[in-house]
Amino acid sequence: MTIQWFPGHMAKAIRLIKESLNQVDVVIELVDARIPESSRNPVLDETVTDQPRVLVLMKPDMADPNVTKQWLQHYRDLGQTALTIDAKKNIGISELIAAVTELAEPKMEKLRKKGIQHRSVRAMIVGIPNVGKSTLINRLVGKNQATTGNKPGVTRKNQWLKVGKKLELLDTPGILWPKFEDQTVGLRLAATGAIKDERLDFSDVVLYLIRYMKEYYPKSLLERYKLQEEPEHDVGWFEEIGRKRGCLMGGGDIDFDATAELILREYRSEKLGRISLERPEQ
Ligand code: GDP
Repeated sequence: MTIQWFPGHMAKAIRLIKESLNQVDVVIELVDARIPESSRNPVLDETVTDQPRVLVLMKPDMADPNVTKQWLQHYRDLGQTALTIDAKKNIGISELIAAVTELAEPKMEKLRKKGIQHRSVRAMIVGIPNVGKSTLINRLVGKNQATTGNKPGVTRKNQWLKVGKKLELLDTPGILWPKFEDQTVGLRLAATGAIKDERLDFSDVVLYLIRYMKEYYPKSLLERYKLQEEPEHDVGWFEEIGRKRGCLMGGGDIDFDATAELILREYRSEKLGRISLERPEQ
């Protein structure tokens, strides 16, 4: 599903999240470990003011492990609760449950003092499209609690899904828009697949990718495409890689679009390695 974010949609997304916020004790904010800042929503900070938040860096299996470590340290230095979850391999789930439980404890303590003893901790997941919200919900609740879809004529209400004995999760995650104002942020989102491809100029995205990799992962491109040395100009990378991979047009010229698409596909399927596109010091 393509979500086009018009001002009306943004307002509605925030309204829905605010409605749900009244019901939850903790917010679980998902970001992409390869671009933790670029994949955050610009107005979430203003929206979630009362609930504690845990920041989850998703898809760490695709990110540079050293950079992910730096990000976790960066967020912890800022006093935030941050952790990683590899939802594909199911790693980090118990850490998330423990973090949510801990963050909710002050509120639960208050409730206990009021005589409310056995209330579960309630949490909701928020994040931009494609960051892994549904995958994580499925991991948390297991298969046996399939969410009920829309039935004609029945107004769908949020439902609570049980996660173990002491935690409940809102079945509908909050879908947020990314920051698109900044050009570099847009390129990072595009490279990781957070922006729909039909709206992209692949060459721009791949040019960004090549420049970034030249600086931080100089060997990866050379090794992947078996190049002897770095081409002099950025365009040279397209030419060399296009030629190596046979991305040619009728007259034998390099097909730049096809080359760009190939490189982007290979980045997204980790054939270029585990590459993060954003660092805390940037
Ligand atoms: P949503 O739009 O936020 O609900 O995102 P989805 O849950 O549909 O996930 C988007 C894509 O990311 C799917 O192809 C998932 O398989 C993939 N995905 C989710 N979590 C992870 C993860 O931790 N690692 C990797 N490699 N892929 C993931």
